Amino acid sequence: MADLEKTRVPAPAPLEWEYAPAPESRDVVRFQERYGLFVGGEQVEPLSGEWYSTIEPATEEHLAEVATAREEDIDLAVGSARDGFENGWSKLPGSERAKYIFRIARILLERSREFAVAESLNSGKPIRESRDVDVPIAAAHFFYYAGWADKLEYAFPNRRPQPLGVAGQIIPWNFPLLMLAWKIAPAIACGNTVVLKPSHTTPLTALLFADVCRQAGLPPGVVNIVTGDGRTGAAMVRHPGIDKIAFTGSTGVGKDIQRAVAGTGKRLTLELGGKAANIVFDDCALDQAVEGIINGIYFNQGEVCCAGSRLLVQESIYEQTLSKLKRRMSTLRVGDPLDKNTDVGAINSREQLERIEELVQSGRDEGAEIFQTECVLPDRGFWFAPTVFTNVAQSYRIAQEEIFGPVLSVLTFRTPEEAVEKANNTAYGLSAGVWTEKGSRILWMAERLRAGVVWGNTFNRFDPASPFGGYKESGFGREGGRHGLEAYLRFE
Ligand code: NDP
Repeated sequence: MADLEKTRVPAPAPLEWEYAPAPESRDVVRFQERYGLFVGGEQVEPLSGEWYSTIEPATEEHLAEVATAREEDIDLAVGSARDGFENGWSKLPGSERAKYIFRIARILLERSREFAVAESLNSGKPIRESRDVDVPIAAAHFFYYAGWADKLEYAFPNRRPQPLGVAGQIIPWNFPLLMLAWKIAPAIACGNTVVLKPSHTTPLTALLFADVCRQAGLPPGVVNIVTGDGRTGAAMVRHPGIDKIAFTGSTGVGKDIQRAVAGTGKRLTLELGGKAANIVFDDCALDQAVEGIINGIYFNQGEVCCAGSRLLVQESIYEQTLSKLKRRMSTLRVGDPLDKNTDVGAINSREQLERIEELVQSGRDEGAEIFQTECVLPDRGFWFAPTVFTNVAQSYRIAQEEIFGPVLSVLTFRTPEEAVEKANNTAYGLSAGVWTEKGSRILWMAERLRAGVVWGNTFNRFDPASPFGGYKESGFGREGGRHGLEAYLRFE
């Protein structure tokens, strides 16, 4: 044995090597210098006369000038949507509406590279995600709801489904094109027309989408896009010509909107924040679960309403899970969103970065232990390193509040009952994940978790056929699937 030891050749030290840069070309997208509002099928100057600059969060460089819509502009857009509704769209047979929506889906796919680059430039998300997730799933939503447009009578037999009229849709900055698709596709498939407001930080893919509507020959007024800030959104909510408000964003603004529409007869759906528990049992396939934890919290820089931001690990595998997780975290590549090797891109805005920093500081102050990966963050732009907090008490702000950044809080549990109790100990109820080899345990947990979506041995899976939405402060109403149609229909 001793001789063998002598002859053993030591393993060579791992080679130091770097990924070669793999940048996606920015040339596939050409932004206009200035974008007006998309009203009545064409770009128009804002009556407000106001414009602002939209930037690239990774570099803080200017990308384009964009119009700010105020009351009088909203009035024009709602008027155009009303015309579109009454003078054609709502009366078209479903099979005709479907042709336009199919055309939109196909054009999105044909222009997918352009949309992916535009999305990454304006939002900061990695091209790998905008190319493989945002754009294809957005197109899939249009394909899916095109399929329903002429089958509404079958979806709701004996209920005589009718469109609502004009839908005002307000979307956030974390999935600009995908949220647009979630909102517009079911609304127009049901025969409604829409006025959509993207977030002021990420208007560009919505404005490119306006061009897709033109290319598809969509009748004027069916889709109207108004850009601007929170005041623009508030003006939409107040406008008496809007029949339904669909909102995705923060719980605070969602509550304001609910108060504003109370008593007006406007229909409302709210998709708000989340603080999902990703629950790991000791019988799971741990390497697979670690991938799920990573995907759950670092996908889209953690700027995801259904992010698995609270990791609940069974106590018996705590050390092992944490050591595997930290090792895997250290392989994440943070940087240029347009590099195809990038895993974690830029934070969407300075305000969001400051919100993340403030909450992370509160975690330190309250006594949690922080681990951050060593990575060189660019000098310009908005960046935050992947972060894990351990020694977290349930009462800490980092365990209660939505951080909306690449920050994970780890808690432990001993029994399934305790896992359920801790998972449900939140004001939110949007999503959860369960990792175990026992199918029966996944079902047992799913019955008890107060969350709109429960993923079993996976996380952050989206499918147009599957409904998505929350309980409690995560909002109400469902998007996706047959359920998603109901939000845009009334029944006679
Ligand atoms: P907001 O809720 O402010 O933004 C969502 C959308 O609502 C945007 O289009 C926004 O416009 C618009 N808006 C803002 N104020 C009003 C208003 N009073 N009436 C109508 N519309 C309004 O989210 P923030 O960007 O401020 O993000 C804050 C926090 O919210 C995040 O840290 C995160 O925790 C959470 N959030 C949750 C999201 C989710 O998917 N559930 C998405 C985004 C944020 P504009 O952006 O132009 O101001």
